[in-house]
Amino acid sequence: MPLRLFLANRQGEISMIRVEHLSKRFGNLEVLKDINVEIDQGEVISIIGPSGTGKSTFLRCLNLLDQPSGGHIEIDGQDILAPGAKVPALRRRMGMVFQSFNLFPHLTALENLTIGPVRLLGKPAAEAVSSGMELLRMVGLAEKAHSFPEELSGGQKQRVAIARCLSMGPEIILFDEPTSALDPTMVSEVLAVIRRLAKQGMTMAIVTHEMEFARDVSTRVFYMDEGLIYEQGPPAQIFDNPQRERTRDFIGKVRSLAWRVESADYDLYALVGRIEGFCEKHLIPHRTAHAAQLLSEELLGILLTGPAPHGIDLVLAYSEKHRSLELRLDSAGPPGDPLETADLPDDLALAIIRNYAEDIAYERVDDRNRLRMRVK
Ligand code: ADP
Ligand code: MG
Repeated sequence: MPLRLFLANRQGEISMIRVEHLSKRFGNLEVLKDINVEIDQGEVISIIGPSGTGKSTFLRCLNLLDQPSGGHIEIDGQDILAPGAKVPALRRRMGMVFQSFNLFPHLTALENLTIGPVRLLGKPAAEAVSSGMELLRMVGLAEKAHSFPEELSGGQKQRVAIARCLSMGPEIILFDEPTSALDPTMVSEVLAVIRRLAKQGMTMAIVTHEMEFARDVSTRVFYMDEGLIYEQGPPAQIFDNPQRERTRDFIGKVRSLAWRVESADYDLYALVGRIEGFCEKHLIPHRTAHAAQLLSEELLGILLTGPAPHGIDLVLAYSEKHRSLELRLDSAGPPGDPLETADLPDDLALAIIRNYAEDIAYERVDDRNRLRMRVK
């Protein structure tokens, strides 16, 4: 039977990965409580959730880098936890890409790609070199074939790491925060490679904090919390219409930046830095990020001269749906629009605000004055 037909026939019957009642504890710490999930061939799963909830542990249990404490894991119908299971062979069917690249520092990019196929799969060297070059070409790094890892940027190293993973011919790739260690300017080159693999039908599970990416690359999203896959569904459900409370909280928080200003001596530069980072993460245009920084500084300047110059809460919230950035400032004091009632330090502040914000609105919420606007 042709291989393709064989795969097609199998697809409907057996999930590529089936996990039942998976648990993992480290001493008294119960990290994974009861994970039940199936992943089919060709699926792209994004795994999101607060840090420390066991996302890495889950991936590490899947390919047995961590030994599960209980439960079952089947790969193509084979129980990989059964005594006598051929662990190295099973593990080879799953590639893993780590946050920290883990390239061999003393080998060139190309040698990093040929060593596994030659030593572990017994491929002839010439064949390994030619498919290694092809993979480097695919990730845009053919001209770096003879460079050592230390000569490459973080983004280039991670692309080599992905190519190395592919060189072993995995059936599924597990990514553990592949862009978290990268300078923001290099995130997109790595995501572009992963996107391309998704288009080619590679089965992947990706732990990520890149929400825009997770939304447009995934077939399903797992939200992990409390040692469980707390909620799962298509990206539109998880990001726009989460069904459960903790998912809603998490999604709300990753889309917003909250900052509390206690006094006029607040750290403006730290705030500006946080706004910059937040905007980069959500791929918000630089112009808008700059506007948000200027607005925050000017508005805080005005509120800090007001009647209750402390305890100001600033929130920047990004709406992916509308691709817009909202700025909110809540402050204490008697009712009244701070922009009307404050002794403005100068007209310049007001001019800047009107220039960089639109739909400026005042409302009284929970006995505090709220200013709300859309950053232009
Ligand atoms: P995430 O990837 O979601 O941030 P992890 O899977 O890395 O979470 O960790 C989940 C929890 O398990 C954390 O509390 C972490 O400290 C703990 N943990 C992870 N690995 C080990 C280990 N080898 N020994 C002890 N505790 C661990
Ligand atoms: Mg982790």
